[in-house]
Amino acid sequence: MPLIELTGMELPALQEYLQSIGQPKFRAAQLFDWIHQKRVTDFDAMQNLPKALRDRLKEEATLTTLTIQRKLESKLDGTVKYLYGLPDGECVETVMMRYSYGNSLCVSSQVGCKMGCAFCASTKAGFVRSLTAGEILAQVYETERDLGVKISHIVMMGIGEPLDNYENVLRFLRLINSPSGANISLRNLSLSTCGLVDQIDRLAEEKLGITLSISLHASDNETRSRMMPVNRRYPMEELLAACKRYTDRTGRRISFEYALIAGENDRPEDARRLAHCLKGQLCHINLIPVNSVKETSFHADRKRVREFQQELSRLGMNATVRRTLGADINAACGQLRRDKIEETK
Ligand code: SAH
Repeated sequence: MPLIELTGMELPALQEYLQSIGQPKFRAAQLFDWIHQKRVTDFDAMQNLPKALRDRLKEEATLTTLTIQRKLESKLDGTVKYLYGLPDGECVETVMMRYSYGNSLCVSSQVGCKMGCAFCASTKAGFVRSLTAGEILAQVYETERDLGVKISHIVMMGIGEPLDNYENVLRFLRLINSPSGANISLRNLSLSTCGLVDQIDRLAEEKLGITLSISLHASDNETRSRMMPVNRRYPMEELLAACKRYTDRTGRRISFEYALIAGENDRPEDARRLAHCLKGQLCHINLIPVNSVKETSFHADRKRVREFQQELSRLGMNATVRRTLGADINAACGQLRRDKIEETK
């Protein structure tokens, strides 16, 4: 029998489980408190639970913990990047960035990725599996414990496509927002997707109030389909219509990610076409000079990046160039895991 993973269970599920083993309902709140407030990972430390219950939990349940397989710290800006080992031996990356407004953690949602974007390191080694809610949560708890810091913002921009792991990601978001847990405000949670239209609509219905980021990276279907295979399934018109519905339903501004790749999507006419595509959409454009990934020849042209932003501003679009953090530790995601797989080969 596989062990029951308690770290990713919301309170009602914990209550149901404890009742199913003959325990009173209030034990669930005690257990929740040990896991999510006191952050205990050993059942024996849970002093207000009866010994018999602790023994039973030790037998059939588990609390998710991660091991630090590698840890890199930037000397430039204090960014810390982890390669975390999961209970089954797989690994994912997590990055902690320090900003003036607080500490932001970039978490992974899957081991590898199915989406196949041409410029992305996370997809190069293929897809293994989705993470459980507990494994996503443990990235936050483990980092807070290791660094002795409080994380105030979460971005789901690590390895994987979060909307391809919908239930676990939603459970994670509700748990991390829980007032009897880490209590991170929904406004400080953001999720980035390559554009799974059905799931964007589903997310809109949850009315969670998190920030949605869309990885757009192109202003026409031909270019986007070449860089992002997902565009063949959900072309830009459908994606942008879903974004509009999301904003209408939630009132939240969408953030569009646009990685600038020299000679590919960074000409002034691309900027003009982008402005045209996004006209009337409540949004912000995040321009990212593409990070060079070993297997590809993609690179960014700094001058073109500046001109692209100027052109967008001239057209009245709200666009900023993303600051690079952790440049000395290769902080962009996917690269550490990929390197480790290559080392072990
Ligand atoms: N699957 C999700 C989230 C993970 S990637 C998504 O596609 O949004 C987080 C962001 O980094 C995405 O916008 C992704 O397109 C971008 N990205 C991936 N590889 C990159 C690279 N080499 N340079 C710049 N941005 C990259």
